[in-house]
Amino acid sequence: MLEKMTEFFKRLPNKKCVECGNDIEEQHECYGNKCDHCLDIMK
Ligand SMILES: [Zn+2]
Repeated sequence: MLEKMTEFFKRLPNKKCVECGNDIEEQHECYGNKCDHCLDIMK
């Protein structure tokens, strides 16, 4: 059962920042397609 959960999360696509190409963390999903670092620059 635990292994299946791991498989599920592995399959979730990583979002990539359109500015720098870094992976975007899940919690920043609502900000669109930029990572935390690039969002800071925009401020
Ligand atoms: Zn970025």
